[in-house]
Amino acid sequence: MRFIDLEAQQGRIKEEILRRIHHVLGHGQYILGPEVQELEANLSAYVGVRHAVGCSSGTDALLMALMALGVGRGDAVLTTPFTFAATAEVIAMLGATPVFVDIDPRTFNLSADELPLALEAVQNGDRGVYPVPRGHGSAQRLTARGVVPVNLFGLPADYEGICAVARVHNLFVVEDAAQSFGAEYFGKKSGSLGDMACTSFYPSKPLGCYGDGGMCFTDDEDLAMVLRSLRDHGNDGGCRYESVRIGINGRLDTIQAAVLLAKLEIFPEELELRQQVASRYIDLMSSLGPGLSLLPPHVPSGHRSAWALYNILAQDEGHRSLLQGRLRELGIPCAVYYPKPLHLQPAFAYLGYRKGDFPVSEDVSTRILSLPMHPYLEVEEQERIVSALAVE
Ligand SMILES: *Cc1c(COP(=O)(O)O)cnc(C)c1O
Repeated sequence: MRFIDLEAQQGRIKEEILRRIHHVLGHGQYILGPEVQELEANLSAYVGVRHAVGCSSGTDALLMALMALGVGRGDAVLTTPFTFAATAEVIAMLGATPVFVDIDPRTFNLSADELPLALEAVQNGDRGVYPVPRGHGSAQRLTARGVVPVNLFGLPADYEGICAVARVHNLFVVEDAAQSFGAEYFGKKSGSLGDMACTSFYPSKPLGCYGDGGMCFTDDEDLAMVLRSLRDHGNDGGCRYESVRIGINGRLDTIQAAVLLAKLEIFPEELELRQQVASRYIDLMSSLGPGLSLLPPHVPSGHRSAWALYNILAQDEGHRSLLQGRLRELGIPCAVYYPKPLHLQPAFAYLGYRKGDFPVSEDVSTRILSLPMHPYLEVEEQERIVSALAVE
């Protein structure tokens, strides 16, 4: 059994992938070739935004988005501590300060209710109101610039709540959609829910390529122009070797775009299959009876998850170890995303956060467990997984 089955997917579309790769070998435009523009056009239409800018990874997409918004030293950017390191890493790399906001216990996404408290604490430099960075991380008074909500495991965050706060405080909202391509929020696609959005095509993401890749989305023409410049060393878009700003090498490979175009043909169907797999998990687990209390993922009304991962919450850390042991014995792969919230990781120790600062993230990180999830997971496999979990 596989945690994520990329081979089953490849079996379906191998011919098309090879055909498209051969086409790239034929025209030889390996860097920003026609497939990149074709993919950008397709994905911007799919998401429903005016501009899509392909880039080298989800991390670089986030980095470029924050660079385009002029984030730098003295700026605070608010995000969740219960995410992959990249989300906060790019904020720190630009010299800005990541300010964490705890998560909602049911969705595991940034709590819009706590966001105003964190903003007040940043404004007044007052840790009495909410835990904010101390020491090196807050040597100077910070200016809150924006929020980076993460659509964790494929589920969109609470954009209505977050954007309402952002409007009042004049903050940008950059969607970390690395795990949520294809998800929906009240009829709008993930990628269109903030001022900008960033997704990842890392192989195990809902829409993955065969290497690294990512994309930025925005309706703002000026930001899109800056993103195109940033991904190619800050060029001016015309004359080669004229740098008008400091950029990076953040380009998307043409061959990866070709792979993505082939995968895109079956992507809507795969999303539907993921939804079926998730619904089946929920049904199977509900028949376990209340004594086992494996909370299924909460999907608020109006939300559609892309089901990048399927997680359950064990009763406590001991219970989770027991479940992991059972699954391992039966050869069923499982994983923990994420075992340690970012505020407790060495790389972010300079921010001066402490254990207890974000109790919900800390609690969830000790209880969460990811089960196999991909469009090709079979009923019998799911039945085996769920019966393995049925232990007192
Ligand atoms: C995967 C991921 C990223 C980074 O994407 P890469 O393509 O691996 O650089 C950023 N944020 C989140 C939430 C992710 O899951």
